[in-house]
Amino acid sequence: MKAIIIGGGVGGLTTALALQNNNIDVTVYEQSPTARADGAGLALWPNAVRALQQLGAHAAITGSYTGGVGSIHRWDGTTISALDARTIEQRYGAPIIVVHREEIMRGLLAQIGGVVHYGKRIASYQQDADGIHALFADGTSASADVLIGADGIRSAVRAQMNADAQPVYQGYAAWRGVVPFAHAQVGSMWGETWGRGARFGIVPLSSERLYWFATANRPAHTPPANHKAELRRLFGAWHAPIPALLEATPDAAVLYNDIGDLPPLSTWVDGRVALLGDAAHATTPNMGQGACQTIEDAFVLGQVLTRRSDPIQALKEYQARRMPLARQVVLRSRTIGRIGQLENPLLVALRDAFMRTIPDQLTARQFDFVLRKTY
Ligand SMILES: Cc1cc2nc3c(=O)[nH]c(=O)nc-3n(C[C@H](O)[C@H](O)[C@H](O)COP(=O)(O)OP(=O)(O)OC[C@H]3O[C@@H](n4cnc5c(N)ncnc54)[C@H](O)[C@@H]3O)c2cc1C
Repeated sequence: MKAIIIGGGVGGLTTALALQNNNIDVTVYEQSPTARADGAGLALWPNAVRALQQLGAHAAITGSYTGGVGSIHRWDGTTISALDARTIEQRYGAPIIVVHREEIMRGLLAQIGGVVHYGKRIASYQQDADGIHALFADGTSASADVLIGADGIRSAVRAQMNADAQPVYQGYAAWRGVVPFAHAQVGSMWGETWGRGARFGIVPLSSERLYWFATANRPAHTPPANHKAELRRLFGAWHAPIPALLEATPDAAVLYNDIGDLPPLSTWVDGRVALLGDAAHATTPNMGQGACQTIEDAFVLGQVLTRRSDPIQALKEYQARRMPLARQVVLRSRTIGRIGQLENPLLVALRDAFMRTIPDQLTARQFDFVLRKTY
């Protein structure tokens, strides 16, 4: 069997590995002229770590830091909700691993070999009884038995399948940065800090680096003129080491994104074509599950395309197995974002007080639906 994968992000590259493992002939077409070297940290939860381990993607997750994430603090440093990453590892049989996006991409690229063609932007696809044909913006084309649209939240493959499906802005934007920073200086303040209409997260990376992220309510498409000045205004009075962390981050290392998600679709499949990752179920980052769900998609796709000789039936099975959970993640993550971004002082006080009453064990159990082993 031959497969075309559109998009060389985490989704496209993990899918290439999953299909190659099952002796499927794969070619990846990526619109960027070269391998992307952007991005910040990615938290990979046990569901994704298990899938990567089973795919043999050890190079992609080697050297990553396994450490504390998951607790929630108030802006002054008091703890609202405690979650020890070791509890999650014991409960779900794999650790939480935080990687730099560039490092996981490099690891995956090294494993799949030279199957990625850069500078290839898909314009449309056509299919008939014999196969699927991808037509590229440069006038060239490629044919295969199946085409996987792993081309992200603004997917061109999805636009042809369902032109009405559009991402929806969720009312807040996010900043991210990676910075060298002594882990000892963070003390017990790993995890997230929630304020009024704003949040800040600190996550450990390998080699005494940190990944931080920040969110704030603001209108869509309104990046501040000066990111560091805006971050200082929002977080300058928050607990240590947040102000120091911001000062240690060079201006050029700050990334900024509007945060949106894709309202759940009724189908991910059109004959020999299937959507995967953000193209199918882009979610807000509140559960750290966007890439994790994408990696699970790749794993399941590898299984179904191997077990079934008819690719059309295989893609239907892929959708049936993956869609319900991915949909639940999008909706749950959106709700967590709304709670985390509350601005009203009374509601914020009630939120914080309520969260303090939830026992740690129950906090861990809230992850069952997404972290438990399903394959
Ligand atoms: C602020 C933030 C924090 C996040 N944190 C986490 C986290 O901690 N953990 C986690 O699991 N997830 C996280 N995510 C989500 C995660 O980044 C995404 O879910 C994941 O990257 C999706 O991978 P993908 O391959 O589907 O899409 P993408 O990474 O967007 O890749 C799509 C690729 O397709 C290419 N492409 C697009 N159009 C075309 C075309 N027409 N032709 C050819 N190629 C095309 C693009 O250039 C790109 O390389 C976060 C997201 C954000 C915004």
